[in-house]
Amino acid sequence: MSQHIAVIGAGPGGYAAAFYAADLGMQVTLIDNEKNPGGVCLYRGCIPSKALLHVAKLLDESKHAAEWGIEFGAPKVDVDKLRAYKNRVVEKLTSGTGQVSKFRKVNYIQGWASIVDPKTIAVKKADGGDETVRVDAIILALGSLPTKIPSLSLDSPRVLDSTGALDLPEVPKSMLVVGGGYIGLELGSVYAALGTRVSVVEMTPGLLPGADRDLVKLLAQRVEKTFEKVMVATKVTAMKEARNGVEVTFEGEGAPASATYDYVLVSIGRRPNAKIAGLDKTKVKVDAKGFIETDAQRRTAEPTIFAIGDVAGEPMLAHKASHEARIAVEAIEGKKAVFEPAAIPAVVFTDPEIAWAGLTEAEAETQGLTVEVAKFPWGASGRAIAIDRVDGLTKLIIEPGTERILGVGIAGSGAGELIAEGVLAIEMGATAEDLKLSIHPHPTLTETLMESAEVFFGQATHVYKPKRK
Ligand code: FAD
Repeated sequence: MSQHIAVIGAGPGGYAAAFYAADLGMQVTLIDNEKNPGGVCLYRGCIPSKALLHVAKLLDESKHAAEWGIEFGAPKVDVDKLRAYKNRVVEKLTSGTGQVSKFRKVNYIQGWASIVDPKTIAVKKADGGDETVRVDAIILALGSLPTKIPSLSLDSPRVLDSTGALDLPEVPKSMLVVGGGYIGLELGSVYAALGTRVSVVEMTPGLLPGADRDLVKLLAQRVEKTFEKVMVATKVTAMKEARNGVEVTFEGEGAPASATYDYVLVSIGRRPNAKIAGLDKTKVKVDAKGFIETDAQRRTAEPTIFAIGDVAGEPMLAHKASHEARIAVEAIEGKKAVFEPAAIPAVVFTDPEIAWAGLTEAEAETQGLTVEVAKFPWGASGRAIAIDRVDGLTKLIIEPGTERILGVGIAGSGAGELIAEGVLAIEMGATAEDLKLSIHPHPTLTETLMESAEVFFGQATHVYKPKRK
Protein backbone atom coordinates (compact mmCIF):
# COMPACT_ATOMS: atom_id res chain seq x y z
CA MET A 1 0.00 0.00 0.00
CA SER A 2 1.27 3.51 -0.78
CA GLN A 3 2.53 5.68 2.03
CA HIS A 4 0.47 8.60 3.30
CA ILE A 5 2.40 11.74 4.15
CA ALA A 6 1.35 15.10 5.53
CA VAL A 7 3.17 18.29 4.64
CA ILE A 8 2.60 21.27 6.92
CA GLY A 9 3.24 24.61 5.23
CA ALA A 10 2.75 25.09 1.49
CA GLY A 11 5.62 27.38 0.52
CA PRO A 12 8.19 26.39 -2.14
CA GLY A 13 9.43 23.74 0.29
CA GLY A 14 6.05 22.31 1.24
CA TYR A 15 4.30 22.35 -2.12
CA ALA A 16 7.38 20.99 -3.92
CA ALA A 17 7.44 18.12 -1.40
CA ALA A 18 3.73 17.46 -1.71
CA PHE A 19 3.72 17.49 -5.52
CA TYR A 20 6.82 15.29 -5.81
CA ALA A 21 5.45 12.80 -3.29
CA ALA A 22 2.19 12.64 -5.26
CA ASP A 23 4.15 12.12 -8.50
CA LEU A 24 5.91 9.19 -6.81
CA GLY A 25 2.53 7.64 -6.00
CA MET A 26 2.19 8.61 -2.34
CA GLN A 27 -1.05 9.73 -0.77
CA VAL A 28 -0.50 13.35 0.24
CA THR A 29 -2.18 15.84 2.56
CA LEU A 30 -0.90 19.41 2.32
CA ILE A 31 -1.91 21.98 4.93
CA ASP A 32 -1.55 25.75 4.86
CA ASN A 33 -3.61 28.69 6.02
CA GLU A 34 -3.74 30.30 2.56
CA LYS A 35 -6.38 29.50 -0.08
CA ASN A 36 -3.79 27.94 -2.40
CA PRO A 37 -0.24 26.61 -2.09
CA GLY A 38 2.42 29.34 -2.32
CA GLY A 39 3.68 30.27 1.14
CA VAL A 40 5.69 33.40 1.84
CA CYS A 41 7.51 33.17 -1.48
CA LEU A 42 4.47 33.39 -3.73
CA TYR A 43 2.18 35.48 -1.53
CA ARG A 44 4.52 37.86 0.34
CA GLY A 45 8.08 37.35 -0.89
CA CYS A 46 9.95 36.36 -4.04
CA ILE A 47 7.13 36.80 -6.54
CA PRO A 48 5.36 40.05 -5.59
CA SER A 49 8.75 41.71 -5.00
CA LYS A 50 9.93 40.70 -8.45
CA ALA A 51 6.74 41.97 -10.08
CA LEU A 52 7.40 45.37 -8.52
CA LEU A 53 11.11 45.26 -9.35
CA HIS A 54 10.16 44.63 -12.98
CA VAL A 55 8.21 47.88 -12.97
CA ALA A 56 11.05 49.67 -11.16
CA LYS A 57 13.44 48.57 -13.90
CA LEU A 58 11.16 49.96 -16.57
CA LEU A 59 10.96 53.30 -14.74
CA ASP A 60 14.74 53.46 -14.37
CA GLU A 61 15.35 52.56 -18.00
CA SER A 62 12.80 55.07 -19.25
CA LYS A 63 14.65 57.80 -17.34
CA HIS A 64 17.98 56.63 -18.67
CA ALA A 65 16.66 56.52 -22.24
CA ALA A 66 17.07 60.30 -22.53
CA GLU A 67 20.78 59.60 -22.92
CA TRP A 68 19.98 57.50 -25.99
CA GLY A 69 17.88 60.27 -27.51
CA ILE A 70 14.48 59.02 -26.38
CA GLU A 71 12.48 61.09 -23.91
CA PHE A 72 9.34 59.76 -22.26
CA GLY A 73 8.53 62.60 -19.87
CA ALA A 74 7.82 62.14 -16.18
CA PRO A 75 5.96 58.90 -15.40
CA LYS A 76 2.52 59.03 -13.79
CA VAL A 77 2.28 56.34 -11.15
CA ASP A 78 -1.17 54.92 -10.43
CA VAL A 79 -0.43 53.07 -7.23
CA ASP A 80 -3.82 51.30 -7.14
CA LYS A 81 -3.25 49.88 -10.63
CA LEU A 82 0.30 48.91 -9.75
CA ARG A 83 -0.91 47.10 -6.64
CA ALA A 84 -3.59 45.39 -8.72
CA TYR A 85 -0.96 44.23 -11.23
CA LYS A 86 1.17 42.79 -8.41
CA ASN A 87 -1.90 41.08 -6.92
CA ARG A 88 -2.80 39.62 -10.33
CA VAL A 89 0.69 38.13 -10.59
CA VAL A 90 0.30 36.50 -7.17
CA GLU A 91 -3.22 35.30 -7.96
CA LYS A 92 -2.16 33.80 -11.30
CA LEU A 93 0.68 31.84 -9.79
CA THR A 94 -1.12 30.68 -6.65
CA SER A 95 -4.25 29.64 -8.52
CA GLY A 96 -1.90 27.71 -10.80
CA THR A 97 -0.32 25.86 -7.88
CA GLY A 98 -3.86 25.20 -6.60
CA GLN A 99 -4.78 23.67 -9.93
CA VAL A 100 -1.74 21.45 -10.29
CA SER A 101 -2.27 20.37 -6.69
CA LYS A 102 -5.80 19.21 -7.63
CA PHE A 103 -4.55 17.49 -10.82
CA ARG A 104 -2.16 15.50 -8.64
CA LYS A 105 -4.98 14.62 -6.23
CA VAL A 106 -3.17 16.20 -3.29
CA ASN A 107 -5.58 16.60 -0.40
CA TYR A 108 -5.09 20.34 0.22
CA ILE A 109 -6.53 21.55 3.49
CA GLN A 110 -6.72 25.26 4.18
CA GLY A 111 -6.20 25.61 7.89
CA TRP A 112 -3.81 25.68 10.80
CA ALA A 113 -2.11 22.43 11.79
CA SER A 114 -0.85 21.17 15.11
CA ILE A 115 0.92 17.95 16.00
CA VAL A 116 -0.94 15.35 18.03
CA ASP A 117 1.78 12.70 17.94
CA PRO A 118 4.62 11.77 15.54
CA LYS A 119 2.11 10.31 13.08
CA THR A 120 -1.01 12.39 13.69
CA ILE A 121 -1.95 15.94 12.83
CA ALA A 122 -4.95 17.99 13.88
CA VAL A 123 -6.15 20.77 11.60
CA LYS A 124 -8.32 23.78 12.52
CA LYS A 125 -9.80 24.34 9.10
CA ALA A 126 -10.41 27.79 7.60
CA ASP A 127 -14.10 26.83 7.13
CA GLY A 128 -14.41 26.33 10.90
CA GLY A 129 -14.24 22.53 10.91
CA ASP A 130 -11.69 20.24 12.54
CA GLU A 131 -9.90 17.35 10.92
CA THR A 132 -7.48 14.77 12.19
CA VAL A 133 -5.03 13.21 9.74
CA ARG A 134 -3.15 10.01 10.47
CA VAL A 135 -0.06 9.47 8.32
CA ASP A 136 3.17 7.50 7.94
CA ALA A 137 5.42 10.58 7.87
CA ILE A 138 5.20 14.32 8.36
CA ILE A 139 7.21 17.05 6.61
CA LEU A 140 7.43 20.35 8.45
CA ALA A 141 7.85 23.23 5.97
CA LEU A 142 6.80 26.00 8.33
CA GLY A 143 8.93 28.76 6.83
CA SER A 144 10.11 31.92 8.55
CA LEU A 145 8.89 35.27 9.85
CA PRO A 146 10.40 38.77 9.82
CA THR A 147 12.83 39.35 12.71
CA LYS A 148 11.55 41.81 15.27
CA ILE A 149 13.53 43.61 17.93
CA PRO A 150 11.74 45.55 20.65
CA SER A 151 13.62 48.86 20.07
CA LEU A 152 12.43 48.81 16.45
CA SER A 153 8.92 47.61 17.12
CA LEU A 154 6.76 50.68 17.00
CA ASP A 155 3.08 49.93 16.72
CA SER A 156 2.38 52.33 13.87
CA PRO A 157 0.93 51.95 10.37
CA ARG A 158 4.00 53.92 9.21
CA VAL A 159 6.39 51.20 10.36
CA LEU A 160 6.31 48.38 7.84
CA ASP A 161 7.84 44.95 7.48
CA SER A 162 8.38 43.46 4.01
CA THR A 163 4.75 42.30 3.82
CA GLY A 164 3.48 45.80 4.59
CA ALA A 165 5.88 47.37 2.10
CA LEU A 166 4.73 44.95 -0.63
CA ASP A 167 1.15 46.05 0.01
CA LEU A 168 2.15 49.50 -1.38
CA PRO A 169 0.11 51.65 0.99
CA GLU A 170 1.05 54.71 -1.14
CA VAL A 171 4.12 56.23 -2.75
CA PRO A 172 5.50 58.08 0.26
CA LYS A 173 7.70 61.16 -0.04
CA SER A 174 10.36 59.60 2.18
CA MET A 175 11.20 56.19 3.56
CA LEU A 176 13.93 54.79 5.77
CA VAL A 177 14.93 51.19 5.16
CA VAL A 178 16.41 49.67 8.29
CA GLY A 179 18.75 46.87 7.21
CA GLY A 180 21.01 46.78 4.16
CA GLY A 181 20.29 43.15 3.32
CA TYR A 182 18.73 41.89 0.11
CA ILE A 183 15.08 42.35 1.07
CA GLY A 184 15.59 45.94 2.23
CA LEU A 185 17.63 46.86 -0.85
CA GLU A 186 15.16 45.25 -3.25
CA LEU A 187 12.13 46.94 -1.73
CA GLY A 188 14.02 50.20 -1.23
CA SER A 189 14.87 50.16 -4.96
CA VAL A 190 11.19 49.75 -5.83
CA TYR A 191 10.14 52.77 -3.78
CA ALA A 192 13.12 54.83 -5.03
CA ALA A 193 12.09 54.10 -8.64
CA LEU A 194 8.50 55.14 -7.85
CA GLY A 195 9.79 58.49 -6.64
CA THR A 196 10.23 58.08 -2.87
CA ARG A 197 13.32 59.61 -1.27
CA VAL A 198 14.76 56.41 0.21
CA SER A 199 17.49 56.22 2.83
CA VAL A 200 19.02 53.02 4.12
CA VAL A 201 20.72 52.36 7.42
CA GLU A 202 22.93 49.32 7.99
CA MET A 203 24.65 48.39 11.24
CA THR A 204 27.69 46.68 9.67
CA PRO A 205 30.31 48.64 7.67
CA GLY A 206 28.81 47.78 4.25
CA LEU A 207 25.64 46.84 2.39
CA LEU A 208 24.86 43.13 1.90
CA PRO A 209 27.05 41.82 4.69
CA GLY A 210 28.68 38.52 3.73
CA ALA A 211 28.76 39.12 -0.03
CA ASP A 212 32.05 39.81 -1.85
CA ARG A 213 32.91 43.50 -1.66
CA ASP A 214 33.93 43.92 -5.31
CA LEU A 215 30.44 42.79 -6.36
CA VAL A 216 28.69 44.88 -3.74
CA LYS A 217 30.71 47.96 -4.75
CA LEU A 218 28.94 48.09 -8.11
CA LEU A 219 25.54 48.06 -6.44
CA ALA A 220 26.64 50.51 -3.74
CA GLN A 221 27.73 53.01 -6.42
CA ARG A 222 24.28 52.83 -7.99
CA VAL A 223 22.43 52.99 -4.68
CA GLU A 224 24.42 56.09 -3.70
CA LYS A 225 22.88 57.77 -6.77
CA THR A 226 19.32 56.48 -6.54
CA PHE A 227 18.84 56.58 -2.75
CA GLU A 228 18.87 59.82 -0.78
CA LYS A 229 21.30 58.58 1.86
CA VAL A 230 23.20 55.39 2.63
CA MET A 231 24.28 55.11 6.25
CA VAL A 232 26.56 52.20 7.08
CA ALA A 233 28.15 51.35 10.43
CA THR A 234 25.11 53.09 11.87
CA LYS A 235 22.56 51.92 14.39
CA VAL A 236 18.98 52.95 14.87
CA THR A 237 18.66 53.60 18.59
CA ALA A 238 15.02 54.67 18.82
CA MET A 239 11.89 55.33 16.83
CA LYS A 240 8.87 57.34 17.83
CA GLU A 241 5.73 58.55 16.14
CA ALA A 242 6.01 62.19 15.05
CA ARG A 243 3.39 64.56 13.64
CA ASN A 244 4.41 63.96 10.04
CA GLY A 245 5.86 60.48 10.22
CA VAL A 246 8.31 58.50 12.28
CA GLU A 247 11.22 60.14 14.03
CA VAL A 248 14.29 57.93 14.03
CA THR A 249 17.39 58.41 16.17
CA PHE A 250 20.75 57.21 14.87
CA GLU A 251 24.15 56.42 16.29
CA GLY A 252 27.00 56.34 13.78
CA GLU A 253 29.56 58.46 12.03
CA GLY A 254 28.08 60.61 9.28
CA ALA A 255 24.49 59.90 10.32
CA PRO A 256 22.22 62.67 11.53
CA ALA A 257 21.30 62.54 15.24
CA SER A 258 17.71 62.06 14.14
CA ALA A 259 15.49 62.41 11.10
CA THR A 260 11.79 62.03 10.30
CA TYR A 261 10.47 59.79 7.52
CA ASP A 262 6.98 59.20 6.16
CA TYR A 263 7.51 55.45 6.49
CA VAL A 264 10.11 53.12 7.98
CA LEU A 265 10.62 49.66 6.51
CA VAL A 266 12.24 47.35 9.03
CA SER A 267 13.96 44.48 7.26
CA ILE A 268 16.64 43.22 9.57
CA GLY A 269 16.38 39.56 8.66
CA ARG A 270 14.09 36.60 9.10
CA ARG A 271 13.76 34.02 11.83
CA PRO A 272 12.71 30.37 11.51
CA ASN A 273 9.11 29.62 12.42
CA ALA A 274 9.45 26.42 14.46
CA LYS A 275 6.56 27.24 16.76
CA ILE A 276 3.98 24.63 15.88
CA ALA A 277 1.70 23.42 18.65
CA GLY A 278 2.46 19.88 19.79
CA LEU A 279 6.11 19.82 18.69
CA ASP A 280 6.96 19.15 22.34
CA LYS A 281 5.09 15.84 22.05
CA THR A 282 7.82 14.64 19.69
CA LYS A 283 11.58 14.12 19.85
CA VAL A 284 12.16 16.97 17.34
CA LYS A 285 14.96 19.30 18.46
CA VAL A 286 15.26 23.03 17.81
CA ASP A 287 18.72 24.65 17.88
CA ALA A 288 19.77 27.89 19.60
CA LYS A 289 18.91 29.95 16.51
CA GLY A 290 15.42 28.45 16.33
CA PHE A 291 16.02 26.11 13.36
CA ILE A 292 14.66 22.56 13.48
CA GLU A 293 17.63 20.20 13.60
CA THR A 294 17.81 17.59 10.83
CA ASP A 295 20.26 15.09 9.37
CA ALA A 296 21.46 15.12 5.74
CA GLN A 297 18.15 13.55 4.66
CA ARG A 298 16.24 16.29 6.48
CA ARG A 299 14.99 13.77 9.06
CA THR A 300 14.57 15.21 12.55
CA ALA A 301 15.38 13.37 15.79
CA GLU A 302 11.83 11.97 15.49
CA PRO A 303 12.14 9.30 12.76
CA THR A 304 8.74 9.99 11.14
CA ILE A 305 9.16 13.77 11.05
CA PHE A 306 11.21 15.73 8.47
CA ALA A 307 11.89 19.46 8.22
CA ILE A 308 12.75 21.48 5.13
CA GLY A 309 13.07 25.07 3.95
CA ASP A 310 13.55 28.19 6.05
CA VAL A 311 12.65 26.37 9.25
CA ALA A 312 15.45 23.85 8.68
CA GLY A 313 18.42 26.20 8.29
CA GLU A 314 20.29 28.72 6.18
CA PRO A 315 20.31 29.87 3.50
CA MET A 316 16.67 30.87 3.75
CA LEU A 317 15.95 30.76 0.04
CA ALA A 318 13.09 29.29 -1.96
CA HIS A 319 15.19 27.10 -4.26
CA LYS A 320 17.04 25.59 -1.31
CA ALA A 321 13.64 24.73 0.23
CA SER A 322 12.42 23.09 -2.99
CA HIS A 323 15.59 21.04 -3.33
CA GLU A 324 15.39 19.82 0.26
CA ALA A 325 11.77 18.87 -0.44
CA ARG A 326 12.86 16.28 -2.99
CA ILE A 327 15.52 14.89 -0.65
CA ALA A 328 13.04 14.47 2.21
CA VAL A 329 10.45 12.80 -0.03
CA GLU A 330 13.01 10.38 -1.44
CA ALA A 331 14.22 9.62 2.09
CA ILE A 332 10.62 8.79 3.07
CA GLU A 333 10.45 6.56 0.00
CA GLY A 334 13.50 4.71 1.35
CA LYS A 335 16.06 6.08 -1.10
CA LYS A 336 19.57 7.05 -0.04
CA ALA A 337 19.16 10.71 -1.07
CA VAL A 338 21.15 13.30 0.88
CA PHE A 339 21.28 17.08 0.82
CA GLU A 340 24.80 17.96 -0.22
CA PRO A 341 24.76 20.65 -2.90
CA ALA A 342 28.09 22.02 -4.09
CA ALA A 343 26.45 25.33 -4.83
CA ILE A 344 23.29 27.07 -3.67
CA PRO A 345 22.92 30.26 -5.69
CA ALA A 346 22.03 33.53 -3.98
CA VAL A 347 20.62 36.43 -5.96
CA VAL A 348 19.96 40.02 -4.96
CA PHE A 349 17.46 41.33 -7.51
CA THR A 350 18.50 44.95 -7.30
CA ASP A 351 19.83 46.91 -10.25
CA PRO A 352 22.54 45.89 -10.92
CA GLU A 353 21.77 42.38 -9.67
CA ILE A 354 24.29 40.54 -7.56
CA ALA A 355 24.55 36.77 -7.66
CA TRP A 356 26.93 34.17 -6.41
CA ALA A 357 27.19 30.40 -6.10
CA GLY A 358 29.61 28.04 -4.41
CA LEU A 359 32.63 29.44 -2.61
CA THR A 360 32.89 33.22 -2.32
CA GLU A 361 36.18 35.07 -2.09
CA ALA A 362 35.18 36.27 1.40
CA GLU A 363 34.54 32.67 2.52
CA ALA A 364 37.85 31.50 1.05
CA GLU A 365 39.59 34.21 3.05
CA THR A 366 37.79 33.35 6.31
CA GLN A 367 38.51 29.65 5.82
CA GLY A 368 42.17 30.34 4.99
CA LEU A 369 41.83 28.66 1.58
CA THR A 370 44.25 29.54 -1.20
CA VAL A 371 42.27 30.23 -4.37
CA GLU A 372 42.86 31.98 -7.65
CA VAL A 373 40.37 34.61 -8.74
CA ALA A 374 39.79 35.53 -12.38
CA LYS A 375 37.70 38.61 -13.08
CA PHE A 376 36.14 39.87 -16.29
CA PRO A 377 34.92 43.48 -16.18
CA TRP A 378 31.80 44.09 -18.22
CA GLY A 379 33.34 47.19 -19.76
CA ALA A 380 34.99 44.71 -22.16
CA SER A 381 31.73 42.92 -23.07
CA GLY A 382 30.18 43.83 -26.40
CA ARG A 383 26.70 43.01 -25.13
CA ALA A 384 27.14 45.08 -21.95
CA ILE A 385 28.29 48.04 -24.02
CA ALA A 386 25.40 47.59 -26.49
CA ILE A 387 22.83 47.70 -23.69
CA ASP A 388 24.69 50.51 -21.91
CA ARG A 389 25.23 48.39 -18.80
CA VAL A 390 28.98 48.17 -18.32
CA ASP A 391 28.48 48.34 -14.54
CA GLY A 392 29.15 44.63 -14.14
CA LEU A 393 31.75 42.09 -13.16
CA THR A 394 31.97 38.32 -13.55
CA LYS A 395 34.47 36.38 -11.50
CA LEU A 396 35.52 32.81 -10.96
CA ILE A 397 37.00 31.38 -7.78
CA ILE A 398 39.34 28.63 -8.91
CA GLU A 399 41.17 25.87 -7.05
CA PRO A 400 44.90 26.16 -7.82
CA GLY A 401 46.36 22.99 -9.26
CA THR A 402 43.12 21.26 -10.27
CA GLU A 403 41.81 24.49 -11.88
CA ARG A 404 38.32 23.43 -10.73
CA ILE A 405 35.70 26.16 -10.46
CA LEU A 406 34.74 26.42 -6.81
CA GLY A 407 32.70 29.58 -6.97
CA VAL A 408 31.21 32.14 -9.31
CA GLY A 409 30.24 35.71 -8.52
CA ILE A 410 28.45 38.11 -10.83
CA ALA A 411 27.31 41.71 -10.47
CA GLY A 412 25.42 43.28 -13.34
CA SER A 413 22.17 43.44 -15.22
CA GLY A 414 20.60 39.96 -15.30
CA ALA A 415 23.21 38.39 -12.99
CA GLY A 416 20.44 36.31 -11.43
CA GLU A 417 19.87 34.48 -14.72
CA LEU A 418 23.57 34.19 -15.56
CA ILE A 419 24.51 32.54 -12.28
CA ALA A 420 22.72 29.31 -13.24
CA GLU A 421 25.60 28.46 -15.58
CA GLY A 422 27.98 28.93 -12.65
CA VAL A 423 25.89 26.52 -10.55
CA LEU A 424 26.02 23.89 -13.27
CA ALA A 425 29.79 24.36 -13.70
CA ILE A 426 30.39 23.92 -9.97
CA GLU A 427 28.02 20.95 -9.63
CA MET A 428 29.60 19.21 -12.66
CA GLY A 429 33.12 19.77 -11.31
CA ALA A 430 33.97 21.84 -14.38
CA THR A 431 37.44 23.34 -14.70
CA ALA A 432 38.38 26.77 -16.00
CA GLU A 433 39.46 24.98 -19.20
CA ASP A 434 35.96 23.47 -19.61
CA LEU A 435 34.39 26.89 -19.35
CA LYS A 436 36.97 28.39 -21.68
CA LEU A 437 36.34 25.68 -24.31
CA SER A 438 32.52 25.88 -24.20
CA ILE A 439 31.33 28.04 -27.06
CA HIS A 440 29.09 30.80 -25.73
CA PRO A 441 26.68 32.71 -28.00
CA HIS A 442 27.73 36.16 -29.13
CA PRO A 443 26.93 38.82 -28.21
CA THR A 444 25.61 37.82 -24.80
CA LEU A 445 26.46 38.47 -21.20
CA THR A 446 27.02 34.72 -20.79
CA GLU A 447 30.28 35.25 -22.66
CA THR A 448 31.57 37.01 -19.54
CA LEU A 449 31.74 33.58 -17.88
CA MET A 450 33.77 32.11 -20.72
CA GLU A 451 35.96 35.19 -20.89
CA SER A 452 36.66 35.18 -17.15
CA ALA A 453 37.96 31.63 -17.66
CA GLU A 454 40.11 33.01 -20.47
CA VAL A 455 41.33 35.74 -18.07
CA PHE A 456 42.46 32.93 -15.75
CA PHE A 457 44.76 31.68 -18.53
CA GLY A 458 45.83 35.21 -19.46
CA GLN A 459 44.21 34.80 -22.88
CA ALA A 460 40.95 36.74 -22.79
CA THR A 461 40.11 38.05 -26.24
CA HIS A 462 38.74 41.37 -25.00
CA VAL A 463 40.96 41.97 -21.97
CA TYR A 464 44.73 42.32 -22.11
CA LYS A 465 45.88 40.74 -18.89
CA PRO A 466 48.85 38.39 -19.42
CA LYS A 467 49.18 35.56 -16.91
CA ARG A 468 51.75 36.32 -14.26
CA LYS A 469 54.68 33.92 -14.58
P1 FAD B 1 7.39 29.59 3.43
O1 FAD B 1 7.36 30.04 2.04
O2 FAD B 1 7.72 30.58 4.49
O3 FAD B 1 5.97 28.97 3.72
C1 FAD B 1 5.64 28.44 4.95
C2 FAD B 1 4.13 28.33 5.02
O4 FAD B 1 3.79 27.54 6.14
C3 FAD B 1 3.42 29.66 5.21
O5 FAD B 1 2.39 29.80 4.28
C4 FAD B 1 2.89 29.57 6.63
O6 FAD B 1 1.71 30.31 6.83
C5 FAD B 1 2.63 28.06 6.73
N1 FAD B 1 2.53 27.55 8.10
C6 FAD B 1 3.39 27.75 9.12
N2 FAD B 1 2.95 27.09 10.23
C7 FAD B 1 1.80 26.46 9.86
C8 FAD B 1 0.89 25.64 10.56
N3 FAD B 1 1.04 25.33 11.84
N4 FAD B 1 -0.20 25.17 9.88
C9 FAD B 1 -0.40 25.49 8.57
N5 FAD B 1 0.45 26.27 7.87
C10 FAD B 1 1.53 26.76 8.51
N6 FAD B 1 13.85 33.64 -1.71
C11 FAD B 1 14.41 33.40 -2.90
O7 FAD B 1 14.94 32.30 -3.12
N7 FAD B 1 14.41 34.34 -3.89
C12 FAD B 1 13.88 35.57 -3.70
O8 FAD B 1 13.90 36.40 -4.60
C13 FAD B 1 13.28 35.85 -2.46
N8 FAD B 1 12.70 37.04 -2.23
C14 FAD B 1 12.09 37.27 -1.04
C15 FAD B 1 11.48 38.51 -0.83
C16 FAD B 1 10.85 38.77 0.36
C17 FAD B 1 10.20 40.12 0.57
C18 FAD B 1 10.79 37.77 1.38
C19 FAD B 1 10.08 38.01 2.68
C20 FAD B 1 11.39 36.54 1.19
C21 FAD B 1 12.05 36.28 -0.02
N9 FAD B 1 12.68 35.06 -0.27
C22 FAD B 1 13.27 34.83 -1.46
C23 FAD B 1 12.72 34.00 0.75
C24 FAD B 1 11.67 32.94 0.44
O9 FAD B 1 10.41 33.53 0.46
C25 FAD B 1 11.78 31.82 1.46
O10 FAD B 1 13.07 31.31 1.49
C26 FAD B 1 10.80 30.70 1.10
O11 FAD B 1 9.48 31.17 1.04
C27 FAD B 1 10.91 29.57 2.11
O12 FAD B 1 10.02 28.56 1.77
P2 FAD B 1 9.43 27.57 2.84
O13 FAD B 1 8.75 26.51 2.06
O14 FAD B 1 10.48 27.17 3.79
O15 FAD B 1 8.36 28.38 3.68
